[in-house]
Amino acid sequence: NHKQMMEIRKQNCMTMKITYYKKPVFIHQGYMQWLWDVDGKRYLDLFAGVATVSVGHCHPKVTAATQRQLKKLWHTTNIYIHPELHEYCDKLASYLPDPLKVIYLTNSGSEANELAMLMARLHTGNFDIITFRGSYHGGSQQTMGLTLTWFLPNKQTMCPDVFRGPWGGSYCRDSPVQTIRECSCAQANKHYIEQLEETFATSAPSQIAAFFGEPIQGMGGAVQYPKNYLKEAYKLVRQTGGICIADEVQTGFGRTGSHFWGFQGHDVIPDMVTMAKGIGNGFPVGAVVTTPEIAVSFVKASHFNTFGGNPLACAVASSVLDTIREDSTQQNSLHVGTYLMTQMAKLRDKYEVIGDVRGKGLQIGMEMVKDKGSREPLPPEAMSEILEDVKDTGVLIGKGGVHGQTFRIQPPMCITREDVDFFLAVFNKAIS
Ligand code: PMP
Repeated sequence: NHKQMMEIRKQNCMTMKITYYKKPVFIHQGYMQWLWDVDGKRYLDLFAGVATVSVGHCHPKVTAATQRQLKKLWHTTNIYIHPELHEYCDKLASYLPDPLKVIYLTNSGSEANELAMLMARLHTGNFDIITFRGSYHGGSQQTMGLTLTWFLPNKQTMCPDVFRGPWGGSYCRDSPVQTIRECSCAQANKHYIEQLEETFATSAPSQIAAFFGEPIQGMGGAVQYPKNYLKEAYKLVRQTGGICIADEVQTGFGRTGSHFWGFQGHDVIPDMVTMAKGIGNGFPVGAVVTTPEIAVSFVKASHFNTFGGNPLACAVASSVLDTIREDSTQQNSLHVGTYLMTQMAKLRDKYEVIGDVRGKGLQIGMEMVKDKGSREPLPPEAMSEILEDVKDTGVLIGKGGVHGQTFRIQPPMCITREDVDFFLAVFNKAIS
C-alpha cells in the first residue's frame, strides 16, 4: 500500500532532491501514451519518463520483439560475434549521413557522452571541452561538469576543464540571449552571432578537444538557438582543431518532427553523435556514432563495456527503429507538435504568466513568468501548484530551465490531437 511504499522510499530507496509532486504518483502500468496508478486512475503521459518512451509504453511491436529475444539470448560479451549487434548497427548507420558510420553501444546517455569525451580527447590530443550554458549532458562525474550545475551546491563543477559559453537563451530576465521569437530577424541573429564570436575569442580555451551541444536544450527548458548559431559554433570550434558532438539524447529519433536528428535542423554534420532515451523506448540503451577516422584513434584506448550492445538491447532498439518507420512516428511528432504549439501560442497571448512557448515537433517548452513586464521567473511554489493541479486532473508534464520555470512537453510520440485538446483544457483550467 501507499504508506508502506513511502516508508520504504524514505528508508531504502534513492533519496533524491528532485521531487515533482507533493502528493506522489504511484505508477504501475502503461500503454502507449497512457499510464495508470495503483488505484486505477489514468494519466495522459506528456513527459514519457523524461522524454524517453518514444513510440509508446509497452508498444505491442516492441514488446513482441523483446519477448522473442528474451527466449533466445539475453547476454553475451562483445568478444563474440552475435547477429543482433551487427544487424542493429547496420540499421542504425543507415539513418546517419556519411561519414558517421561507426557505432559504439552503451547503456545510457551519460555513458555515451563520457565515451564521446574520451574519444575526442584521444583523437585531438587536447583536453578542454566546451558546451553551452544551460546544457545537460549527464550525471556521471565527467558529464556533470558539462551540465548546468543543478547537481552540486554552490555552483561547483566536477570537471574544472570545462568552459561554458554564455549561450543558450530563454525568456526570463537574466537570460543572456532573449527569446528566439524576438531574434528571428536577420539583424538580431547577426547580433547573437557576433556575441558568440566575441565570447569565443575572449574566453574559450585554445586547445579544445570537443564542443558538446544539444540541438535543442532539453533539461534547460526546450531552449533553441538563433538561426545559424550552432553552425557558427561548429565553425569556431573546428578552426581550433576541436571536434563537434551533437547530443541527440532528447532530440533524436524523430522527436523534433521535421528531421530524424536534431542536428539536421541546423544544417551541420557533427563529428560525433550521442544518443540514448528514445533509442530504446525505455529500455536502457545508448550509443555513440562517429567517423572511421576518429574510430581509429580510439583503438589506442582499451575500452570495454560489459552490457553495451547486448542482444536483448539490440533487439529492442532494432524494433524501435522499425516501429518509428511503420507507425510514421516522426510525422506524427511534426503534425501533433505543430498543432500543440499553435494552440499553446494562443494561451500565451491570453495569459500574463506564460512568457514563451517554443520548441519543435514534440519537444515543447512553456516558460512561465510572474508577468511579461518583469520577466521574473514564476516562483517554484506557483510552478508546483500548477503541476500538481494538472496531475490531479490526469495529465503528467515535465519541468526544466535554469530556475525550474519552464514546463516541458515531451510525450510518447504516438499522442493524438484529441490528447492535445484534453491537455489544453486541463492546462487552461490550472492556469486560470
Ligand atoms: N544528454 C541529454 C541531452 C540528456 O537530457 C540526458 C538525460 N536527461 C543525458 C544526456 C544523460 O542521459 P542518462 O540519464 O541516460 O545518463
